[in-house]
Amino acid sequence: MKHLICQSCGLPFSGKFMGTNRNNTKNDEYCLSCFDNGEFVDHSLTMHSLEVKLVEMAEVHNEITLEEAQSVIKNLPYLKRWHMSIM
Ligand SMILES: [Zn+2]
Repeated sequence: MKHLICQSCGLPFSGKFMGTNRNNTKNDEYCLSCFDNGEFVDHSLTMHSLEVKLVEMAEVHNEITLEEAQSVIKNLPYLKRWHMSIM
């Protein structure tokens, strides 16, 4: 199966967790927890709050390793959603 990387949160996701467009088609650029029904779930999300969340996922919830969190954080500025904010 194709391994997708969410262009908002930077986490890998599978086809089952693809975001959805307004016309109910799947969006393969964003995961379902970031993008639903044609818009971002959390409009006020910033790259910084995402960094905090990723570190929490590693340190508090053990959902990912700290190394994974750090490599995702390093890549955030290159993702489609955040690309503009560093120009
Ligand atoms: Zn996402």
